[in-house]
Amino acid sequence: MKPRPTYPWWATTSRDETHFRQDVLLRRLLHDRVVPFTAYYSKLFREHGIEAGDIRGTDDLAKLPFTSKRLLENPKDFVIIPDESALRHQWSSIRHALTHGPAATKQMLEEELRPILMTSTTGRSAAPVPFLYTKHDIANLEEGGRRMMELANSDPSWRHINAFPFAPHLAFWLAHHAGTGFNTFMLSTGGGKTMGTDGNLRLIGKVQPDAIIAMPTFFYHLLQQSAAEKIQWPNLKRVVLGGEKVPNGMRKKLAALCAELGAPDVAIMATYGFTEAKMAWIECMPEKGGKPTGYHIYPDMTFIEIIDPETGERVPDGHPGEIVCTPLDARGTVVIRYRTGDLVEGGLTWEKCPCCGRTCPRLLGKISRVSDIRRLNIGKLKGTMVDFNALENLLDDTEGLGAWQIELKKRNDDPLESDLVLVHAAPSNGCDRNVLKQRISNRFGQAVEFTPNDIVFHSWDEIRQLQGVGKELKEQKLVDHRPTLEN
Ligand SMILES: [Zn+2]
Repeated sequence: MKPRPTYPWWATTSRDETHFRQDVLLRRLLHDRVVPFTAYYSKLFREHGIEAGDIRGTDDLAKLPFTSKRLLENPKDFVIIPDESALRHQWSSIRHALTHGPAATKQMLEEELRPILMTSTTGRSAAPVPFLYTKHDIANLEEGGRRMMELANSDPSWRHINAFPFAPHLAFWLAHHAGTGFNTFMLSTGGGKTMGTDGNLRLIGKVQPDAIIAMPTFFYHLLQQSAAEKIQWPNLKRVVLGGEKVPNGMRKKLAALCAELGAPDVAIMATYGFTEAKMAWIECMPEKGGKPTGYHIYPDMTFIEIIDPETGERVPDGHPGEIVCTPLDARGTVVIRYRTGDLVEGGLTWEKCPCCGRTCPRLLGKISRVSDIRRLNIGKLKGTMVDFNALENLLDDTEGLGAWQIELKKRNDDPLESDLVLVHAAPSNGCDRNVLKQRISNRFGQAVEFTPNDIVFHSWDEIRQLQGVGKELKEQKLVDHRPTLEN
């Protein structure tokens, strides 16, 4: 494949110029591809009496309704399926045919528009939603992945390990294409499911990678095991985490374990991405001991809005709100104004990054899923909304607590009864169980207005099983086993 032309402006251009360029990209995408050739948006525009040309730029996106997860039940309606004769009569096709000839134009359009790869949402609660990629999208994965390597200050001569599970998921494919885009050695182990923890450890021991990309909980188990077996990873310099949240406590634990394995100067960076964006973004490499400075967004590929989740209105820069995403250069499956259900604490900033100096927009602060907020009936708290994000951060920060899972149940498994909250825990470093029980209860007191009904201790193996480490794409730290009346 021809390498995608790189746009150096993504990281250095002024906000005004970026705004102008984003408008051009959005107009082209809507006018030439999305409105004429996707079933959902052509109908939506018709029904709202809007023409593609009415959206002059990103400011006009507010004229369009959001696309919610629920609407993706008919994924085919969001795929660009071109009508050949309409495509042939488009000005951009005619211009290309005049200068390159009709055969070259046909090939160019096929490479741009024919779906050749599929990823899907993980869908533990809902049916998985497929997302299609064309060669054009794969070139974007390569370029986005290459930038990820650049932001992490990696080096093409280094050895990289991709420990995401072999699965039709964005995380695995983006990591894979980051390797080809950066022209570097990238070994994909397939995560725990394919060769188990032992297989991963043997391979890592042999390759002695300079950088690893993995899910935090799985990586944590690898480090634990490696430390227990006294295996050293002295080459390791970068750790990139994806697929789930990375609380600060988790970063600290990972850094401490890396030091134990002979890699004291490792830089740990988190990524944020989701299937619908067909992209993920990374934090740049912080100075030693420095704080992360946010996820660096590529403004030539994606337009991010932050909205008030109650009103749907955009909030000013630097204000918390829900992340809404519009790709600017996607083909295959395209979702405009996608409501992620993710809340970002520090909002979006266009300030120059204090760490790397790039001027691309950045998402700041903790990102939490709206779905981690559950309604509980517990004791005196009837129908209270409980934010498990806050609790998760506190639990990850608890000394002596190696791994954990919160389980929600109903008393006697009766849907009409009150809720029960259980904590499954694996102590680390031989921490005394009674001391740990007290600590966990105290943590609950700091975050929520109740204490767990029970704390159950497990071995590392048992907790791994419970969390589905290496089997699920996202380790299950909060499971809801409450029966409902309908079932
Ligand atoms: Zn930066």
